[in-house]
Formats: sequence, structure tokens, C-alpha cells
Amino acid sequence: MSKADLQDDIGRMLDVQLRRRGIVDRRVLAAMAKVPREQFVLEGSRHEAYADRALGIDCGQTISQPYIVALMTQALELSGSEKVLEIGTGSGYQTAILAELAGEVISIERHAELAERASDVLSALGYENVTLTVGDGTLGCEGRAPFERIIVTAACAECPPALLAQLAEHGVLVAPLVGRDYQTLQAIRKVAGQLQSRDLSACRFVPLVGEHGWKE
Ligand code: SAH
Repeated sequence: MSKADLQDDIGRMLDVQLRRRGIVDRRVLAAMAKVPREQFVLEGSRHEAYADRALGIDCGQTISQPYIVALMTQALELSGSEKVLEIGTGSGYQTAILAELAGEVISIERHAELAERASDVLSALGYENVTLTVGDGTLGCEGRAPFERIIVTAACAECPPALLAQLAEHGVLVAPLVGRDYQTLQAIRKVAGQLQSRDLSACRFVPLVGEHGWKE
């Protein structure tokens, strides 16, 4: 694909998939315009990197649809200084968007093969504020808590209690809750120790597999 074709696809994504559906956060739109999604998809999918849907990646997983990435990121209300925990690195595309908009990103993936590939792509693009870990993200990352923001990009069986415990006061957690096949994207804010939740959209994610997730 030529550079001009890619630019056309990016322009269409911003306009038709994002702005028209209510993505208004300028920093989110700028990050979506900047991060080269074609580098995070499988080689054979590059021509459709900016299509309006999720695409398959290795280990039977998916890279989320651009709109869902933007919607989840917008709901995190990032100002630039936050420490963010991401569960489900997958391709690393959402990780790159977060790295553009937050202070630091800690991302956990259960498949070492995916984490390695994501690490290669993120390093090649020069992201230095990202730490990738292989493990069970349903347990969070106790050693680095609390987190101002937490994002889960796999379908939850419950909202993992460790993640709620590791969410800072005034923090926001965005996750697809609760179901194996269909979920609702929710933004949960912790205020005075209480949880306030807001529905964003219906969605479909691959399952979050782990101790506080689905069984394999
Ligand atoms: N944000 C990613 C989405 C990848 S799909 C992207 O757009 O590319 C969800 C990912 O969550 C998969 O890679 C899957 O392996 C991972 N995952 C599932 N359960 C997990 C767990 N308990 N801990 C960490 N990662 C998990």
C-alpha cells in the first residue's frame, strides 16, 4: 500500500468511524491519526488495517476495532501525566495510543508470543514509557499500584477485584463487563471509595482468561 493510500484510509477512519460517532477528544483523535495501525496487524491484513472492525492477530486473539479503541481511550480522560495499567496487550496498538496520551503505561498479556511481538513494534516506534509484562492480568500489578487509570481489553467474567483495589481514588477503569460472548463497555470511577459506573456501548471482546476471569 502506498503512503497516500494509507493517509486516505486514516482520514476516513477519523471522519466516518470516529468523529461522526462522537469521538471529540482532540488528543485522542491526534493519537489515532499518528499511531501506524498497519504495523500492529498481521502482514496479510495491512491493506485493511483501518477497516471498521476488529482483525485477527496471532494466538487466536484480535486487535480491537478503531472506534472501540478511541471510545475506551476517550472514557479514560487522560491528561498526560497518568500511570495506566492495561490488561490484554494483544497487538500493542491500544498500548501505543495510551503511551501517546499518558505518562506511563504498564501492560500485561498472558501470551508471551504476543507480548514479544508487541514489544518489538513498540520499541521500533520509539515508545519508552511502556512496560510490558507476561502474566495473568486479572491479578493486576500489586507492586506498581495504585493506578490512576485501568483499561481491560478482554471480556470480563466479573470485574476483577484486584483491579478495583488497585484503582486510585478519583481513578477510572474501563472494561467490557460482564459476559463471555457479549458485553457492555463500562467506565467505573472511584469516588470516596465508592464505585460509580456508566455504560458506553455494547461490545464483543475475546475472553479474559485467568484466576478472576474465564477458564480456558
Ligand atoms: N488491546 C488489544 C486487544 C487484544 S485482545 C489490541 O487491540 O490489540 C485481548 C487480549 O487479552 C488478548 O491478547 C489475550 O491474550 C489477552 N488476555 C486474555 N486474558 C488475559 C489475562 N488474564 N491477562 C492478560 N492478558 C489477557
